[in-house]
Amino acid sequence: MLDTDFFRRWMTATAAAVDREADRLTELDAAIGDADHGSNMRRGFTAVRDVLEKEPPATPGAVLALAGRQLISTVGGASGPLYGTLLRRTGKALGDAQEVSPAELAEAFGAGVAAVAQLGGAQAGDKTMLDALLPAVEVLADSFEQAHEAAVAGASATIPLQARKGRASYLGERSIGHQDPGATSAALLVGALVEASAQIAGGGA
Ligand code: ADP
Ligand code: MG
Repeated sequence: MLDTDFFRRWMTATAAAVDREADRLTELDAAIGDADHGSNMRRGFTAVRDVLEKEPPATPGAVLALAGRQLISTVGGASGPLYGTLLRRTGKALGDAQEVSPAELAEAFGAGVAAVAQLGGAQAGDKTMLDALLPAVEVLADSFEQAHEAAVAGASATIPLQARKGRASYLGERSIGHQDPGATSAALLVGALVEASAQIAGGGA
């Protein structure tokens, strides 16, 4: 079972991964956007880490709801409301449970990803974060490692795609040949689940 501390570690591990990879995220966004995705994500998840430390929530759902609100209030770019909605909706789906199973997390995360699709109007193949998130949701109940691999593969698979949503879509065919920054950061978020579960005594989810 995954407890509140697991969810705090998930957010902390995401903050660390985003910090580590911020330059790469910004380089990817420089190619097909406005070169701010690394700094947007770093600002957002640093604020998430800080607020979770200052006001530790009591349940897994409350951790994600607070993290989502923090992203929405600190990140100006498109990714702030989208990631914020992902975490808030996932947290809401977890309800007041003190602990959740990986299957329950997978179902809740699926609801979060669906909310991202609804908010942004994007679908699979539009060269957005959804291209990493949707394949991850498919296997999340089975294993966090597999979900991470699926997200990384999904992010790589955005390279030959033409962007149909967001800033990159203004480039038309010139968006082809570059990996989507948001799909890349989404793979970091999913990879942080693996890191958070590696810290459970006895290992694994
Ligand atoms: P901005 O585009 O406002 O500069 P960011 O650079 O932080 O914001 O984030 C860009 C990323 O947001 C893109 O790489 C893409 O993955 C994601 N994105 C943009 N628009 C959408 C959308 N409508 N639906 C889903 N994801 C989107
Ligand atoms: Mg940008």
